[in-house]
Amino acid sequence: MKKIFLYGNWKMHMLPKEAESFCSELLSCSSEKRYDEKCIDIALFPPFISIAPVVRLLPENGIFKAGAQDGWYEDRGAYTGAVSMDMNRQIGCTHVLVGHSERRSIFGDTDDIVGRKLKQALQKGLVPVLCFGETLEQREAGQTLAILGKQLLAAWREIEADEIKGNGSYPGILLAYEPVWAIGTGRNAKAADAQEACAYSRQLFKEHFGDTMNCPVLYGGSVKDSNAAELLSQKDIDGALVGGASLKVGSFLAIYDNYRSASL
Ligand code: PEP
Repeated sequence: MKKIFLYGNWKMHMLPKEAESFCSELLSCSSEKRYDEKCIDIALFPPFISIAPVVRLLPENGIFKAGAQDGWYEDRGAYTGAVSMDMNRQIGCTHVLVGHSERRSIFGDTDDIVGRKLKQALQKGLVPVLCFGETLEQREAGQTLAILGKQLLAAWREIEADEIKGNGSYPGILLAYEPVWAIGTGRNAKAADAQEACAYSRQLFKEHFGDTMNCPVLYGGSVKDSNAAELLSQKDIDGALVGGASLKVGSFLAIYDNYRSASL
């Protein structure tokens, strides 16, 4: 069975107390279920106010990771309301989401800004989860792969293979294919379509950075217990970036559990 990356994006939910209860329950459930770091990697992406309790409660090494949902590309300065990649690192994050569709569509992150954030995350020693995906209009116009390619190549423009090669046991970057129309809508991509997009992205990654390079490719967009086994068993899908279903330990872990029991 392949290793699964189960990543939870809490968006603007979960106050510090709620994050603490979540972490305690997560730790006890995963030890009861005997999760093993060879099989699963779990990352939580709380809102900034709840990162510190998550970092404090999760063990430093092993299957659990804490990440930020975004980060600005300068360390300090007159950027009202922003939190820098450096600050994410200082508070104890190891991971960061970059280019989530809500940042692109609501907060105006362009491909250029996403590229700068990606570069800065890497320079600060964070593992970025680069999010990308097409709108419904683009899918219906048959432009999906062209759009994915455009977003990925723009984000990678200033990145060298050395910066993202990881350390042998852990990746230096992850990709998260998230069709915009599937995020928070209850309507996931068909498994075959998600597989095609993830395979294409992995191939592009190899063409761009070199044939020996690889990285996990996640699918995100309305992943839940009932569709997890089919999506996660696709050859080029290494995990899930989960929004709504990551807010309760039960629904979050059911995603991995359903995949695991279907694959046995
Ligand atoms: C997300 O926020 O990245 C996401 C995929 O959300 P949801 O699982 O709720 O669709």
